Amino acid sequence: MSGSASRPTLTLMSKRVIIVGAGLAGCLLAVYLARAGWNVDLRERRGDPRDRGQVAGRSINLAISARGLKALRRAGLEETILRDAIRMPGRMIHSRAGALAFQNYSSDPTHAIQSVSRSALNLALLNAAAAESRVTITFHQRCLHLDAALGSVSFIDDNTSQQSSVTADLIVGADGAYSALRGIMQKNEGFDYDQSWLSHGYKEMCIPAVTSGKHAPFAMEPKALHIWPRGASMMIALPNPDGSFTCTLFWPNKSTGTNPNGFDSIRDSVIAREHFQREYPDALAMMPTFDHDFATNPVGAMLTIRCWPWSMRGRAVLLGDAAHAIVPFFGQGANASFEDCESLTDALAAHSDDIPRALAAYEQDRKRNADAIAEMALTNFVEMRDKTASRAFRMRKKFEHFLHGVVPRFYTPRYDMVSFSTIPYADALSRSRKQDRVLTITAIAIPLFIAFVFLAWKMRT
Ligand SMILES: Cc1cc2nc3c(=O)[nH]c(=O)nc-3n(C[C@H](O)[C@H](O)[C@H](O)COP(=O)(O)OP(=O)(O)OC[C@H]3O[C@@H](n4cnc5c(N)ncnc54)[C@H](O)[C@@H]3O)c2cc1C
Repeated sequence: MSGSASRPTLTLMSKRVIIVGAGLAGCLLAVYLARAGWNVDLRERRGDPRDRGQVAGRSINLAISARGLKALRRAGLEETILRDAIRMPGRMIHSRAGALAFQNYSSDPTHAIQSVSRSALNLALLNAAAAESRVTITFHQRCLHLDAALGSVSFIDDNTSQQSSVTADLIVGADGAYSALRGIMQKNEGFDYDQSWLSHGYKEMCIPAVTSGKHAPFAMEPKALHIWPRGASMMIALPNPDGSFTCTLFWPNKSTGTNPNGFDSIRDSVIAREHFQREYPDALAMMPTFDHDFATNPVGAMLTIRCWPWSMRGRAVLLGDAAHAIVPFFGQGANASFEDCESLTDALAAHSDDIPRALAAYEQDRKRNADAIAEMALTNFVEMRDKTASRAFRMRKKFEHFLHGVVPRFYTPRYDMVSFSTIPYADALSRSRKQDRVLTITAIAIPLFIAFVFLAWKMRT
């Protein structure tokens, strides 16, 4: 065992929970439940990141917005996380010729999404969990089996190959998109499972910090999420506190007649360099480690997972990506997972003597919202990679912001509802659909009305 916080003082009143996975959601839930009086046994497959010290290497970041910040605030971590975060109040669109166009995310200038380091966020959450006296954290523990009826889970220690089995009142699978716990639940009758892979993959690249220039140490405007929309493909870049940018290419895995530029065709850095020279020349000029990054950084896969039910026998339950992995185009996967932690904690508090009831309340609350953000995340991919480049889209966004500024009670753009409010995702989806219909009808009705008035006037004169 390594990195254990002090052992919990077991009381007859305290219930015991095993959380599988000390990722973003698992750690936050451990903090919440420990503070609610649970004894928490948090088990993680990987080693303790604190043992590795400050690892030099690629910075990978995440966009955190209102929902994630609210959940972090509840754990007393918002300030710590925001200290090193970079505000991104809008998108910076890069054309092939290198022209830049900034689009605000909201009509409210105080609204911004925050770029944070993924490893720093995980570390802050892990430290917060370890600081709770009721939390025990054990690393190198890979979940192997679940017996929900008995409330037991078995693990193997990947260092020693020793197997162990533990029992608890509640077992939470917070073990990510490829969840072992979900895999076990899937074998049970009545468990619905749907997994769809995106035909695009992603590869991370780097724009390092610079020593001179208008935005130094940043090579370009730091207060924006940069997008190079190229129809069926795109690249984005988020700023890091050290002055670098993490760029992510989202390209089709397989080339097609309409888009011959998939990862399968652009196989090496020589072809990639030529492609970048045509499609992303301004970015290429800021990438001194281009050849190395392209050759060594892997192509990641993206998928949407929908499953139901999320709980089993009133004793085991899924949370975060384990319950609902989504594609990353709305920057909401972690935000949604943090909301799950709040919902599960609240449900357990509301039904403190009835865990099955609490789990049922939690999954009913979250499932419709998880489905809604999964759908909106897929839609946002088309918006980011294609529509953001169009003048009509930009005009529409400006009009939406104008409406929101004038009649905020009647019109709130979808992006605002998802990123800058905590309106349930399902409500944001249905409300934005209604608004879209009204906007489309208005866009047709106003020119028709003007034409009608003009014709009537013409006929009278
Ligand atoms: C390219 C990309 C960009 C993204 N950008 C954003 C963004 O900007 N904003 C945002 O909100 N979200 C973003 N996301 C989504 C976000 O990363 C996830 O939604 C979030 O990490 C989910 O947290 P989690 O705790 O459920 O899972 P994870 O963070 O994956 O944690 C799961 C943990 O479980 C452990 N584990 C796995 N299997 C086992 C096992 N058998 N036994 C024990 N432990 C196990 C893992 O080691 C890991 O520590 C992005 C995702 C991708 C792929």
